Amino acid sequence: MGDVEHIPKELKLIDESGVRLDGRRYDELRPIRIEAGVLKKADGSAYIEWGNNKVLAAVYGPREAHPRHLQDPAKALVQCRYNMAPFSVTERKRPGPDRRSVEISKVISEAFASVVFVEQFPRTSVDIFIEVLQADAGTRCAGLTAASVALADAGIPMRDLVTSCASGKIGGVVALDLNKDEDNFGEADCPMAIVPRTGEIVLLQMDGHLTVDEFERAMDLSIVATKGIYELQRDALRRRYSAMAEQAMEAPPPPPIPSELPPPPDMPEDELPEVDDL
Ligand code: ADP
Repeated sequence: MGDVEHIPKELKLIDESGVRLDGRRYDELRPIRIEAGVLKKADGSAYIEWGNNKVLAAVYGPREAHPRHLQDPAKALVQCRYNMAPFSVTERKRPGPDRRSVEISKVISEAFASVVFVEQFPRTSVDIFIEVLQADAGTRCAGLTAASVALADAGIPMRDLVTSCASGKIGGVVALDLNKDEDNFGEADCPMAIVPRTGEIVLLQMDGHLTVDEFERAMDLSIVATKGIYELQRDALRRRYSAMAEQAMEAPPPPPIPSELPPPPDMPEDELPEVDDL
């Protein structure tokens, strides 16, 4: 609990002028940076820095689902494994899966299963790996946002990207995108994920208590924030594809196709058959 002990109990998470411990206002996101296509071996990948969170996402598939008894003859499985690296937090984190990571993996799989065109790929699986390298609260939102870009990078057909964000309550104030200290000492945290084009909510969780009015305000804050995050996702994909197009332009020209091959050398005249011989 090293990194939370420095906060005295009486310290306010948000002061009278509405400024939070890290200097943000109630409706401000932490800085977000997204890169697509960061891993060569994966079919699709993305890296996100969201405040102090650092998260990698890799996607494989659609590929034959294993173990085989899990295969669905009618559709693809969408399987996610969320994992927090043992070095991602200052407290000792036991390596390997725990109840929390199993829960997060499940809700993220379900969120993506509702946007991927799973009927197009029976008996296969789309495998999503989310590795949290550095955690500072909001890692499921950061992981889901990165995984969505990785799915698009892998060319998996989807209805739209999925965008995620959380809002909660700190010092009695409904606020956007809680960091670790706010998550630990605040009253509530409510992560959500949305399909921006349709407005459909594909993940919604709540830790702590909010009144109906507070919940609605938290959702409004998150929905507005996801519009900006969606643009960052699209921008990461645009940069990825313009870099790929540039590489393709710079590559040496491919060998000529047969119709462009030079004609065979002329046969010597005396070897040409006489027309009458034909
Ligand atoms: P999220 O990261 O999606 O907000 P939680 O609310 O469960 O998920 O966790 C908040 C933060 O608490 C994490 O981002 C991480 O910084 C920290 N945390 C979670 N689980 C552990 C753990 N087992 N050991 C140390 N820190 C943890």
